[in-house]
Amino acid sequence: MEGKVNEATAIGIDLGTTYSCVAVWNHGRIEIIPNEQGFRTTPSTVAFLDAERLIGDGAKNQIAMNPANTIFDAKRLIGRKFSDCKVQENMKLWPFRVVEGPADTPKIVVAYKGEEKEFLAEEISSMILGKMKETAEAYLGKVVKNAVITVPAYFSDSQRQATKDAGTIAGLNIIRMINEPTAAAIAYGLDNKFEFVGKINVLVVDLGGGTFDVSLTTIHEDAIFEVIAVAGNTHLGGEDFDNRMVDHCVLEFKRKHNKDLTRNRRALGRLRFACEKAKRILSSTTQTSIELDCLHDGVDFSMRFTRAKFEELNMSMFGHCIETLNQCLKDAKIERSWVDEIILVGGSTRIPKVQHMLQELFWWKDLCKSMNPDEAVAFGAAVMAAKMSGSNEEGVRDLMLRDVTPLSLGIELLGGVFDVVIPRNTQIPTRKSVDYLISKDNQSSIVIKVYQGERIKSTDNHLLGKFTVSGIPLAPKREVTVQVCFEIDPDGILKVTAKILSTGMSNQLTIGSEKGRLSKDDIEKLVKEAEKYKLEDKVYKKRVNACHALEDYIHKMKKKVKEYNTNKRVNPDSLRKMENAIDETNEWLEHNSVAPINELQRKKVFLEFVCTPLI
Ligand code: AMP
Repeated sequence: MEGKVNEATAIGIDLGTTYSCVAVWNHGRIEIIPNEQGFRTTPSTVAFLDAERLIGDGAKNQIAMNPANTIFDAKRLIGRKFSDCKVQENMKLWPFRVVEGPADTPKIVVAYKGEEKEFLAEEISSMILGKMKETAEAYLGKVVKNAVITVPAYFSDSQRQATKDAGTIAGLNIIRMINEPTAAAIAYGLDNKFEFVGKINVLVVDLGGGTFDVSLTTIHEDAIFEVIAVAGNTHLGGEDFDNRMVDHCVLEFKRKHNKDLTRNRRALGRLRFACEKAKRILSSTTQTSIELDCLHDGVDFSMRFTRAKFEELNMSMFGHCIETLNQCLKDAKIERSWVDEIILVGGSTRIPKVQHMLQELFWWKDLCKSMNPDEAVAFGAAVMAAKMSGSNEEGVRDLMLRDVTPLSLGIELLGGVFDVVIPRNTQIPTRKSVDYLISKDNQSSIVIKVYQGERIKSTDNHLLGKFTVSGIPLAPKREVTVQVCFEIDPDGILKVTAKILSTGMSNQLTIGSEKGRLSKDDIEKLVKEAEKYKLEDKVYKKRVNACHALEDYIHKMKKKVKEYNTNKRVNPDSLRKMENAIDETNEWLEHNSVAPINELQRKKVFLEFVCTPLI
């Protein structure tokens, strides 16, 4: 793509578990940017083939043929350890392979261009982000660097940091990360042009492909968005409903045919695809059927699926959604009746049972369905992107965001107790210091372990990182004070500093530069690799185009020769020569479809030369 880098243009990207969406503030309004196929959302899927890499619709469309090398759900892996029980649980259902890399990092293994390759979740996410960047660039006709990316409100610090790294690898400058439900609230505020007096309490219920988030935001008439509380589950969404359907079908297959298809990756891939389709259909009709020819061992699969069965299979998960919602209201210290608007976001809020349960809880108020649940988050992100790049336009200019941190942050004390420094739902950015006394006599160093979570025992929470403070003056216990300071930036990313008060000596940790996360050097290496893949894709596309051009020309000339044969306007000898050249080139192409571009082009130039009398 040629063009100038326009620092002022910033896009908003909703990087979803199953689908992603990109939007931009253009000509005084938000535009959702369609991809090259004309779709307004793009599957968050990357496929690796013998000759090429596919991202988006192309990748999703071939998943049943190539399940082991088609990667989805990178968002369920990003920022997590390989040993994480959620990762282990998901791995059993994924048709692709995930192995343990250094420092407990999960690595995705694929066959690409005849070689086995390993990718980090950050790399796969960066490929999707790169695709969204390209989509925006093609639409705007200029290079885009700056972006606001959304993350689930309930993402931990390492998940946020890893998402930011994915953006950097994709060649983006992430000017801000905002929480998905907050973005949806911004979209709602703008959509309704702040047509209310004072303030309103907006509950955003965001049930997507892989995550569930609820947030209570107070929107003030002067465009201040104040997030009061968030709650969520980073492993609850449409794919879990699909999984329950797949499990049910697997059992049915076993019962009917006494055959186990869990080891047949291709069959599982086809089944998952069919279940997701059936699930969508069940949102508008009460029954459908799943038919798959030759699913396993030559046996066909056929099953009637009712909405009632779907609801029964997923009832416990719908129940978790309501529990989470109640937790959010409790944390916000808000009565259910004080909620003025309930906004539905994420494709899975189309499920009638979900809507029905919500409507029962908020029976006095119609659920707000005026916003497109697939696009609201990208819409809000694009408004924020415009604000961050200094737009002075109405609707953007006055916008002010006060978000919160979703999980409590603190350190481990003696006996493994988790001591909270910043409680969950504290407004960010924020900074807080706590003084701790050294607990042992003559202790010259201490290890500060930073955790995130809500449990009393520190090891039940998520370890974000640890660092050592040494050089502590030798003294009896409780006589030296170490001041620990937690700072959260507007993206929700944490920095922890520890200082020995008597000496002024300090040490600090930016979570994310920890072992197990990507270092600056790692990122630089991955940026280079991402560029290499992009270049390879480009070369491949060019080669395919050259191949098509030659095929097309052969076809055209064949037709011309036929025409000339009938009306005999060309010397029969030269016509035969041309015919021979066309046939030879055709045969050559059949055996050399993977020839280099210059060879394909040379063949075409030669054929054009021979066939000149026909033109
Ligand atoms: P999102 O991440 O917000 O794009 O949500 C995608 C999820 O919504 C996927 O799991 C889809 O299967 C699901 N979804 C989309 N449309 C429907 C529908 N009509 N009924 C049920 N689930 C849907």
